[in-house]
Amino acid sequence: MLKKIIAVLLCVILGVSSFSLSVFAAEEKGNDYPFVFVHGLMGWGEYQGIDKFMPYWGTTSGDIPKYLEKQGYDVYTACVGGASSAWDRACELYAQLAGTTVDYGEAHSKEHGHSRYGRTYDEPLCPTFGKTDENGDIIKINLIGHSMGGVTVRLFASLLEYGDPAEKKAGNDVSDFFKGGKGEYIHSITTLSAPHNGSLAADKDTYPIINIMVHSFYYIWGILDNTPLRPIWDIQMEHFGLTDYPDDGFEGDFDMELIETMLNSKDSAYYDLTVKGAAEANERIKMLDDVYYFSYSSECVFEGPITGNLYPEPTMNPLFLLTSPPICSYDRDELFGIAIDENWRVNDGIVSTNSAHHPDGEPYKDYDDNNLEKGIWNVMPVMESFDHTDYMGVFTNPIEIRKFYKEVCGLAASLPA
Ligand SMILES: [Zn+2]
Repeated sequence: MLKKIIAVLLCVILGVSSFSLSVFAAEEKGNDYPFVFVHGLMGWGEYQGIDKFMPYWGTTSGDIPKYLEKQGYDVYTACVGGASSAWDRACELYAQLAGTTVDYGEAHSKEHGHSRYGRTYDEPLCPTFGKTDENGDIIKINLIGHSMGGVTVRLFASLLEYGDPAEKKAGNDVSDFFKGGKGEYIHSITTLSAPHNGSLAADKDTYPIINIMVHSFYYIWGILDNTPLRPIWDIQMEHFGLTDYPDDGFEGDFDMELIETMLNSKDSAYYDLTVKGAAEANERIKMLDDVYYFSYSSECVFEGPITGNLYPEPTMNPLFLLTSPPICSYDRDELFGIAIDENWRVNDGIVSTNSAHHPDGEPYKDYDDNNLEKGIWNVMPVMESFDHTDYMGVFTNPIEIRKFYKEVCGLAASLPA
């Protein structure tokens, strides 16, 4: 305990986060498959201008993908709609990886009132996606999703393998993505503090301040994306008509009514992050039997010695002082009919630690180096004193975060092809 207090004090002085993780150190490679990183809410990837001077993966600690490439890994960082629903993000991920036009689906786009097609990616983000090697074997990918990137990669994998019945039924030039049968493209899925069962912070009835904050972000973004600043950080909302398609300039149709419609619909990141939205996504998403699943979770709160209540640790990103305290003291015992017990109070700033373990109803077991199984969540030990943006390297110890991602990639790369 004394060691931890000293470590926390040192981190406060040095302005960096400290955390503990030491579960795995891969010595041998089992495969050379590329890694595709998928960011979380309001995030970005290598297509965005902001990534050139402030990478999502290594925001202040140095470019993590570049570091991993120096370690011999082939890394790509996808860039999906920062405020878009998991469905829209999964469709965008497919188009980027395959190098094609985003197809949100005939049935989906009609149901949610937006354009069926999005922007076109002339070149595939990952050149080997869906391709075979010299032996005729598929060159798979390892997917890593942070926060909302978790549900994105899970839905992506599910659609890739099982397709979507509604889209197939809708006919009319169905995208290959919705036809299914391509689950063999994926080797592993790793989620990093993904709110598999939702985040209490998205409970807008309990936290009106967070609702105001989310609205503000949507409005600011909607305005900025209709200016020449758009190439720096793009909300990717042209299919809703909020902005123009990238090649058409910056004459979008910023519309407050449209933003309200999006925020109140089921086709937005905000809904997917609620406990109810996550439960609905979990019903739709199926696991793949031949894919390895890993989940990392963390916590960054401590128990007050006198009150017994939970509080954010001093090293937590100050951004989370809006979201963490309400989760620490959450007192409802159910939400939309879903039981919420006191374990939900332990959090990393915005996601409850238990929500990041695995989706309710899916098979799981604690990580066991000697017995890794496919088609089941291998739940990694909880990382302590590690907040939600530490995964991005926001004021995180640069050496430790590099070590962390080396272990994450090393684990997936050690698995047999
Ligand atoms: Zn949509």
